[in-house]
Order: sequence, then C-alpha cells, then structure tokens
Amino acid sequence: MSTILVIAEHRRNELRPVSLELIAAAYGLKKSVDDKVLVAVIGSQAESFVPALSVAGVDEVIVVQTPIADFDPDIFESAVSALITAKNPAVVLLPHSVDALGYAATLASKAGYGYATDVFIAEYQGDELVATRGGYNQKVNVEVDFPGKSTVVLTLRTSVFKVLEGAANPSVSSFDLPVVQSRSQNKEFIEPGGANDVDITAVDFIVSIGRGIGEETNVEQFRELAETAGATLCCSRPIADAGWLPKSRQVGQSGKVVGSCKLYVALGISGSIQHMAGMKHVPTIIAVNTDPGASIFTIAKYGIVADIFEMEEELKNQLAA
Ligand SMILES: Cc1cc2nc3c(=O)[nH]c(=O)nc-3n(C[C@H](O)[C@H](O)[C@H](O)COP(=O)(O)OP(=O)(O)OC[C@H]3O[C@@H](n4cnc5c(N)ncnc54)[C@H](O)[C@@H]3O)c2cc1C
Repeated sequence: MSTILVIAEHRRNELRPVSLELIAAAYGLKKSVDDKVLVAVIGSQAESFVPALSVAGVDEVIVVQTPIADFDPDIFESAVSALITAKNPAVVLLPHSVDALGYAATLASKAGYGYATDVFIAEYQGDELVATRGGYNQKVNVEVDFPGKSTVVLTLRTSVFKVLEGAANPSVSSFDLPVVQSRSQNKEFIEPGGANDVDITAVDFIVSIGRGIGEETNVEQFRELAETAGATLCCSRPIADAGWLPKSRQVGQSGKVVGSCKLYVALGISGSIQHMAGMKHVPTIIAVNTDPGASIFTIAKYGIVADIFEMEEELKNQLAA
C-alpha cells in the first residue's frame, strides 16, 4: 500500500480550485485500491475547509491548525516536512503556485526527495513514477523519473487535471504543527490588477488579439467580435504591456495558461514561444495572419493567410445576417 499526500491551497478564506485538481491527479496515481489519498489543509481556519475537501477520491483529510491566517513559507515547509515524516507518502502533490514555490524546493532539497515543478502529466510507467513538464521554454516535453527516491514532491500545473465528480465521506484527523520560527510577517494583502476580471484559465472559447491590431482604437471592434461570437477576448503580451487590455487577459509564459480552452482564435499574433506556452495545448486553434511564415501556423489546426481587419468585417456581416 502506498500513500499520496495532497497539500490543499486556500487564500483569503477561500479554497483554491487547484486543490480539487490535485486530488484528481492523486487519485490517478493510485496503483491499487489499497493506496490512500490524504489531503492536508494547513491554516488558522483549516477545519472550515473539510466539507469542501470531502470529495470523491479522498480517503482522509488532515487538519493542521496554525497560529496565523496568511500563508507563511516557514510554517508550510515545517508542517509538510513533519507530515511526510509521519505519513511516509510516495508522492506529495502541491499546486504550481506562488505560495507552493515559496517552500517546495527547500522542502525537497533538505530531505533529498525527488522533485519536479510545473508538471502536467504524472503517471506510473510500470513501477516508475514519471512526471512530464516543459523544457527549453516549453519547446519540448521532458519526462522526469526519480530513481531511488522513496518520496517525490511534484508541483502540478493548474487547470490541467480534471476534477472528479461527487462527494465522499473521508475520515478527518488533526495533526500538530511542529514548533516553528517564522522569518517573515504579512503586512498587507494587495489584489493583483484584474483580480476581479474573468478567469481566462477557465473559459472554453477565446478570441485573442496581438500586435497585428496596430492601434489601441482597434481593440473595440475585436471586443465586439468576441462578444458577438460568445468568446472571451484575450491577448498577447505587447497588448497587455501597452495597457490596451488588462494583464489578466494575457496568454503565455508570463501571462496565463488557458487550460480549459477548446477553441482559440489567434488574430495578428506571430506565435512566439512565450505566447504558445499558454495556448499550444488547445485542441482547435485558428490563426489569422498576413504572414504565411508566421510560427503560429505551425500549431494551428486551421490557418488563414488574411488581413484581420478584412476578416473581422466579413465575420461581422456574416454574424449580422
Ligand atoms: C521572458 C519573456 C516572457 C514573455 N511572456 C509572454 C507571454 O506571456 N505572452 C506573450 O504573448 N508574449 C510573451 N513574451 C513576448 C514574446 O516574446 C513576443 O514578443 C510576443 O508574444 C509577440 O506578440 P505578438 O505576436 O502580438 O506580436 P508580433 O510578434 O509583433 O506579431 C504580430 C503579428 O501580426 C501579424 N499582422 C500584422 N498586421 C496584420 C494584419 N493586418 N492582419 C493579420 N496579421 C497581421 C504579423 O504578420 C505578425 O505575425 C515574453 C517575452 C519574454 C522575453
């Protein structure tokens, strides 16, 4: 029997959806029905998340009470380290998030655990755990194995693992936080810009604009096109950097990975590696570009060599007819 330990993530008293994705990934790593999925929730209000974490695939929820409400890397590292010692899991799953990246590497390196970040496939190939992540700026997929490691810590990419349906009735236990001296102090929580905007990682149809739109005044016609078509308007980085759309709409390496998107229409976007890192997994990509040599065509299912303004005009007429 082996154990898979999930560390749930919450912020500002809300469970982050990635916690349920980690549970789904953990369930997928079970090699036999005897294997157990344990979910630890760490925080001053940890108990309040038990109902939301009592979902299909979970065998036990472990509540770790902490003195402070906000995330603290020292407290999390200490708690997870003690949990690993006590529960001896084969795999520990954390979100690939700014919080988890604050302690995951230290946790793994101090104890010599196997470690891989930004993993989007985790599976057993025979008896070997294999994690797949991007390499060389997402140009290639790299399979990582962990020979000789009895515990492996993985941070998983968000919006990739499909949440399991249904509730469950797992056992609930508590676990004492070891004595830990925190080296930092939270002063204030500042919402990032666009925090109240639509979550582009969760939408399924995107119309995305790039530098090919030329001027800020042209954004509006593509916003109207997206609205008429029922799509969410997103963009490449230069558009967000110029402030023509909020940063929350930027797709790519330093923007967001549009994990749930099924249809992505790229208008006047060249297809840089950094942009494609956020959308190349989308099953149906339609690219419109005047340059037949644009890189975006290498990943597009349908490529249209055309002027986006002529295309927008034509589509507007068709949709109005
Ligand atoms: C560390 C780092 C992180 C980065 N992160 C990101 C990121 O997260 N997301 C991101 O997008 N970029 C990112 N970038 C920037 C990236 O390298 C590119 O500069 C950017 O993606 C280019 O955006 P674009 O395709 O809109 O513009 P361009 O590369 O300038 O392409 C514009 C395209 O529009 C076409 N075009 C022009 N006029 C028309 C027309 N009328 N009709 C049709 N087509 C037309 C052109 O042929 C061209 O292909 C990052 C860069 C770095 C160094």
